[in-house]
Amino acid sequence: MNIILLGPPGAGKGTQGKLIAQQYSIPQISTGDILRANVKNKTALGLKAREFMDKGVLVTDDIVVGMVEDRIAMKDCQAGFILDGFPRNINQAGVLGRMLEGAGKKVDYVIGIEVDKKALVKRLSGRRVCRKCGESYHIVFSQPLNQGICDKCGGELYQREDDLEETIAARLDVYEQETLPLVAYYTERGLYRAINGAGAVDMITGAIVEAIEKGKHNT
Ligand code: AMP
Repeated sequence: MNIILLGPPGAGKGTQGKLIAQQYSIPQISTGDILRANVKNKTALGLKAREFMDKGVLVTDDIVVGMVEDRIAMKDCQAGFILDGFPRNINQAGVLGRMLEGAGKKVDYVIGIEVDKKALVKRLSGRRVCRKCGESYHIVFSQPLNQGICDKCGGELYQREDDLEETIAARLDVYEQETLPLVAYYTERGLYRAINGAGAVDMITGAIVEAIEKGKHNT
């Protein structure tokens, strides 16, 4: 089962992606996480990607497409995968479709997590992330037990460079201009399922699972 999680920055794709991945025992592939790991390790790819990421704009398609192609060819993706943060524009969606077709696969579900803009800004500006394991917290809505320390692994919490207020606006603009057209793209293909992303994490997970299970019965 191959799932795309769509939605603006701050919609909860990372959080929900992890939970859905556990539920269906398939890997979550976050292009943002892979890029950040490359930046952290100062790889050639990371050095190229960093300037785009810090500005809140998209990294060029050639960098990201190659990365995704390599990842979904791995053995653990045979039974399916969850894409979080990819595709981010129409070109990437086209490339993904052809890539999967070539491997005898397809996109089964596109889950769009929808949250209003005001709430997104609040979520992103208060987000803190573990440097070690990537777990997400929020300074008001989801505090760690010990300030600045990850509950899961004890790693240091930090504010992502692109979660600074001036970059958030740029990221939301990029989303509207480049990524939002994917809603129409996947709706036309009968794959898009909208999920209300406001509310408790487990309720949203439940709604996503329900949408997937409903889809299974209709096929
Ligand atoms: P995210 O963690 O998904 O919010 O991604 C963080 C940043 O990584 C984005 O603002 C982009 O600069 C870059 N990025 C992640 N995924 C993609 C993608 N599919 N295409 C281009 N850039 C991406």
